[in-house]
Amino acid sequence: MKLPIHKAPLETRSLLGVAPSELESLIEEWGEKKFRAKQILEWIYEHQVVSIDEMTNLSKSLRERMIAAFHLFESQIVTESIATDGTRKLLLSWSDGQTTECVLIPGENRRTACISTQVGCPVGCVFCASGLDGVKRNLHAGQIVEQVMRLKRLCEPENRLSNVVFMGLGEPLANYDNTVSALRQINGSIGIGARKITISTVGLPKQMRRLADEQLQFTLALSLHAPTDELRQKLIPWAEGVTIEELVSAAQHYFERTGREVTLEYVLLADINDAPQHAKDVAKICMKMRANVNLILYNPVPDLPYRRPADATARQFLTTLKENGVNAHLRPSRGLDIDSACGQLRRRTQQTDTTLPCTAPQ
Ligand code: SAH
Ligand code: SF4
Repeated sequence: MKLPIHKAPLETRSLLGVAPSELESLIEEWGEKKFRAKQILEWIYEHQVVSIDEMTNLSKSLRERMIAAFHLFESQIVTESIATDGTRKLLLSWSDGQTTECVLIPGENRRTACISTQVGCPVGCVFCASGLDGVKRNLHAGQIVEQVMRLKRLCEPENRLSNVVFMGLGEPLANYDNTVSALRQINGSIGIGARKITISTVGLPKQMRRLADEQLQFTLALSLHAPTDELRQKLIPWAEGVTIEELVSAAQHYFERTGREVTLEYVLLADINDAPQHAKDVAKICMKMRANVNLILYNPVPDLPYRRPADATARQFLTTLKENGVNAHLRPSRGLDIDSACGQLRRRTQQTDTTLPCTAPQ
């Protein structure tokens, strides 16, 4: 079904970013009965309507008032790519013309939505496509939720969207309030279990502690990528001001407050962080906290000099971690043929053509 397209600048607010309690208060302020808020939420999240006009059990005057204040879908699909492994990627264009990516990753028993939190990224890790051109702006909560709704529409009703990972463009904890509002909506309104939602962070200790104190059961993934501060600082510019020790302490705080073991992400880069000694040192870090390790095979980015290690090297790294008592996994890369590493597709399309035709079915 064709979704409405909004032209910039948008004067209405995204209904997807409004918490149920806020919607209830607003509806009551408007002199309407509280249950109308519940009806609206059912239209959005159960019937998955694409416009407020379709909410036919609301009075015409309430619908008009809603349309004057809110919109549902803002983005336009610029491209939709499907990889040979079934991974589907959407390049979305927002009403100000900025673009972001989101990806649907099918698994044996799951469907995972990978979503963005910022347009670009302010961190600029040396191996990542997302931060190569800096950050343009934050996405607001409604735009973050909208990506999940978009991907949900791609897989349902045949399959249920089961997981959400904040691993697209941007650093979620550098856009803290919008990320947390979106988390609550994805969990509370869309109904994805908190344990099935993962927030990946490059490591902002203050915000990690703050997230822990919200006492939500989300999974926190910390991008470690190096066992020493010296090497980490070469890969991650923001590591300059943060030691691994501080991150371990913040991650441990997260575990203590939520009971959720933290995942350490480690992108394997050939001849940089993939030696057996690196694995032994990562294992030592794991001894100081409750954590499991997720090894990621690097997805090469054109123009960047980094490579993924040979399979045997990656397997050896995994074995060394396990021999040293670490619960570790080696994840296969998905969607390699559709520029699936975060930021790649957006960057490639920006370099070649900024006014791409909308080729995807909407
Ligand atoms: N900014 C956050 C979340 C988005 S990136 C973070 O850095 O954690 C999500 C994960 O993808 C991070 O672990 C990141 O290091 C990794 N990543 C980035 N570029 C990659 C690439 N080209 N190949 C494989 N993983 C990559
Ligand atoms: Fe930003 Fe994460 Fe990419 Fe680093 S890895 S540049 S923090 S998106």
